[in-house]
Amino acid sequence: MAECWIKCAYCETWHPADRDGRSPELALHVQRYHPKPGGEGMKTVNVDMDGVIYDFVGTFAKIAVEQRWMPAEAGDSPPTQWAMWKHWGISRYMFYQMFDVAILRHGLFQIGDPVPGAVDGLAYLLDRFERVRVVTSKQMKTPEAATAAQQQCLAWLARHVNPSAIEVAFTSNKRGYLADVVIDDKPTLQWTQKGALNVLFDQPWNQMSHYKTEDHGYVVRAGWKGLDRVIEIWEGMK
Ligand SMILES: [Mg+2]
Repeated sequence: MAECWIKCAYCETWHPADRDGRSPELALHVQRYHPKPGGEGMKTVNVDMDGVIYDFVGTFAKIAVEQRWMPAEAGDSPPTQWAMWKHWGISRYMFYQMFDVAILRHGLFQIGDPVPGAVDGLAYLLDRFERVRVVTSKQMKTPEAATAAQQQCLAWLARHVNPSAIEVAFTSNKRGYLADVVIDDKPTLQWTQKGALNVLFDQPWNQMSHYKTEDHGYVVRAGWKGLDRVIEIWEGMK
């Protein structure tokens, strides 16, 4: 027989507790039958790395020009389409040949700058969310390139963000990591999640005329600058 009992504030059922009022039974009961309703406190945000936090395009263009893989003027302006090799005037085959070499010999995922506003933007997200998860695909043609890409990515993050404050997931299945807010720059929108605030990160290569996803409603386009306002409005709507 328990020494004391404690009442659930939601449904008024009684649960055994110790003398100090601690009750694992009540904690489990609340988790199971009265889960925190969505929107009551922001929980998880998934943030893409390349094109959102890390200046992947600028870094790749810089390496490609330095190595004379493409003409210098090709790197002067950001691509206005996702297939950046078209903007650079090279073949897709050539682009992917360059990719692994740029990682293994030139530190493609380590030598670049943050996307402007990203460091402050991440600090804002860390302040606002219980969990900030960087979700990025680092699948390359060879295991060596994939390993190097992941190591470079982690080293770069450790230099710019408190590494113990964030989580990192290397995956191409971004929907496998459920979140309340998802931020990504890929115009295919294959990263959107049902019930989440889906933010298409504002970049020159994703200026489409409509943003309707197949099954997850519309996305909102925002950069680091307008993100806090979008999140505030969304929170107010829930
Ligand atoms: Mg990206």
